[in-house]
Amino acid sequence: MSEKLSFVSPTANSPWGTYLSQVDRVVPYLGPLARWVETLKRPKRALIVDVPIEMDDGTIAHFEGYRVQHNMSRGPGKGGVRFHPDVTLEEVMALSAWMTIKTAAVNLPYGGAKGGIRVDPKKLSLQELEKVTRRYTSEIGIIIGPHTDIPAPDVNTNAQIMAWMMDTYSMNVGGTATGVVTGKPLHLGGSLGRVKATGRGVFVTGREAARRLGMDLRGARIAVQGFGNVGSVAAELFAEAGAKIVAVQDHTGTIVNSNGLDLAKLVPISRTDGVVGFKAGGDIVPNEDFWDTPCDILIPAALEGQLTAERAQKTTAKLVLEGANGPTVPIADDILAERGVLVVPDVICNAGGVTVSYFEWVQDFSSFFWDEDEINVRLDRIMMNALNHIWDTADKHKITLRTATYAVACERILMARQERGLYP
Ligand code: GLU
Repeated sequence: MSEKLSFVSPTANSPWGTYLSQVDRVVPYLGPLARWVETLKRPKRALIVDVPIEMDDGTIAHFEGYRVQHNMSRGPGKGGVRFHPDVTLEEVMALSAWMTIKTAAVNLPYGGAKGGIRVDPKKLSLQELEKVTRRYTSEIGIIIGPHTDIPAPDVNTNAQIMAWMMDTYSMNVGGTATGVVTGKPLHLGGSLGRVKATGRGVFVTGREAARRLGMDLRGARIAVQGFGNVGSVAAELFAEAGAKIVAVQDHTGTIVNSNGLDLAKLVPISRTDGVVGFKAGGDIVPNEDFWDTPCDILIPAALEGQLTAERAQKTTAKLVLEGANGPTVPIADDILAERGVLVVPDVICNAGGVTVSYFEWVQDFSSFFWDEDEINVRLDRIMMNALNHIWDTADKHKITLRTATYAVACERILMARQERGLYP
């Protein structure tokens, strides 16, 4: 008797449509828990806020902000905040749902949430950015908190923005609540290892997948889409392990070098000028050529919906590591599976970030901080245990790693749902 949601119109390849089809695929493996599956197909709570600020030129600008709490059956909501001109409620819903699956897949005591503001932060001054962040935080302050929903960085947000969020929330509640956001600067309750954690998780899961495929990382050719916090860190770790980064794409364009790009030069240049700033180190090619650059491993680490059917058909990669959330549309997933390309799905591949966010939150509560070795050892162990369990599930049912991850995660979420029972 459940009606479809009235406020979104998902299509087959839109983020929410992609998520719904991923959930549908897991239903046959849920047994009696399938009775509760509808709970995953709608967010628990979604807030749309108006974010008005006075711009530097004296005009008043309004931005649309969102915070969606998809599921809290296993614990408080958890998930990043994205600043991007294309953010929509439907996208944030999907991103919040992927957080629910992700936290359950690695067995962190959280539900899933996500936030966003429909704004291009590159067009704001630092002062305008601070105003947008603070007003947004104040508006969503009625539903976030250290025990209810804990935001973190995502696309175009960083430690400074988390510091403003922490401060704004703290001013409103009358104390210093470091545990309300993660990904903060180190001296404000941040954790060592958080900045690199997502890229590190991509590397750890990718290294294990390569081992199982019998692929030697030494000399392996890697193409990376998105060269922010996730893509660049993963690229550096793979290069340290002996791989060659043969193609990189970011918002400025695509650079290729079949002998391997010099990351020690590319990374700092990309921070200011984008990857095309490193013309001296490779060839700048049209963006679409990125997808057929000969490579062994493909790391989509930008936005959703990038790996389309056509691109899945032409990639030469044997292994896809989803650093981004939702980069592969369902039909491309099927094409990759048919072509024998192994996909390590976002909800486990990029879970390193939220895992170290969890460490940060625990450290904030205990006011006792760990050294970086301890963080990395624990991160690697959690990621490897989760991945091995997912792989066993995939082998047992002869299903893809994505469906296996959903099977493991959904069982945990729906079991919690069932045990808690329906209120009233
Ligand atoms: N934004 C990151 C993600 O998509 C991290 C979320 C967090 O640390 O809460 O997983």
